[in-house]
Amino acid sequence: MNSIEPHTIRSGQAFRSVKCPCCSVSTSRSIYRVGSVPVHSCVLLGSAEEARSFPRRELELAFCEACGFVFNKVFDEEVMVYSTNFEESQHFSGTFSGFARSLAQEIALKCELAGKHVLEIGCGKGEFLRELCVSANATGLGIDPGYRADKGRGEGDADIQFIVDFFGPDYRHLKADAILCRHTLEHISSVASFVRLIREMIGQRADDWVVFETPDAKRVLAESAFWDIYYEHCSYFSPGAHARLFRQEGFDVTDLELVYDGQYIVQYAKPAASVATAALPLERDLEEMHRLAETFPIRVRACQHRWQERLRSAHAAGRRVVLWGGGSKAVSFLTTLQIGEEVSAAVDINPYKQGKFTPGTGHPVIAPAELIAGPPDLVVVMNPIYVTEVRRSLDALGLHSEVVSV
Ligand SMILES: [Zn+2]
Repeated sequence: MNSIEPHTIRSGQAFRSVKCPCCSVSTSRSIYRVGSVPVHSCVLLGSAEEARSFPRRELELAFCEACGFVFNKVFDEEVMVYSTNFEESQHFSGTFSGFARSLAQEIALKCELAGKHVLEIGCGKGEFLRELCVSANATGLGIDPGYRADKGRGEGDADIQFIVDFFGPDYRHLKADAILCRHTLEHISSVASFVRLIREMIGQRADDWVVFETPDAKRVLAESAFWDIYYEHCSYFSPGAHARLFRQEGFDVTDLELVYDGQYIVQYAKPAASVATAALPLERDLEEMHRLAETFPIRVRACQHRWQERLRSAHAAGRRVVLWGGGSKAVSFLTTLQIGEEVSAAVDINPYKQGKFTPGTGHPVIAPAELIAGPPDLVVVMNPIYVTEVRRSLDALGLHSEVVSV
């Protein structure tokens, strides 16, 4: 937990200084606040009522001027209970599974994983680990509290085992040639302790690879992408902040890249040798992060205002609006903008989400085919990378809606 110390009073509000969970320097600079967001945005809810009464909390992002890290300074770890009832999988999308396949091949090649053993911390439903182990001819162990063995999710050939639990000190004895951690670090509040535990786990094994994939927060700030800010994500890294944390905790960052249309950071690291290596070009982003953090509050408010106006005027003109994507981005978009009947539904190709309701606003999540009964005039795609795939799906259904993306 972050240590919170009462500080001075400003504008009648408690003005608290908190320690940066990455570099431990005190910071009090807030750059974003949402009064009430659902504590989970990937959870499946059976009715609109249940969805609307889902627990909410406040979210307030602080920016650390020392290391460029952004974090929710009022994050309450106690409300975060992960269970097997979560549906975070994106593997139903052709665009996403194509990306996952080529990333798995890249990791297999770079880390020379043939015949080796891979540990994935936060493996979700295990799809990527399976892809990687098959592609590399490696064995795997996945840890995730939300792992669930569903029929048809590609069980089979690979030699993989799973532990349904949180990763923590109890698992520090595990050994692997490569430790993989994708889309997990942003859910951890004590990030430095987490990375330190992995470093301790590796001990003297100097050849072990550590591969992390984490959303790029520099892009979120640059694009005012408020739909990418939600409660589960308490930690936001720019490529530089990410690499600085690993170097601080005894790793050498050997490669840093932006993938998936620049949305995700992929970082390769090894235990640091005695001589520290020079920072990679992508790491030198601290000044840019300062500039982005400075202007973010004004830009993000303008962006939210534009979307509210657009959805309200479309609704007022009798246009039927749907979102494409029923995951975290849609939930954040709807709840942050406080959208109700202006949007009629969220479409999702993941069959595990269809028939459920979005936490917070209670919008129904429907299958693409259900659009035939009520053709939309406007489709808002929650991730620009899926626009081509969405247009193709709409064409196949004989629908000619206007398609825009966030
Ligand atoms: Zn910091």
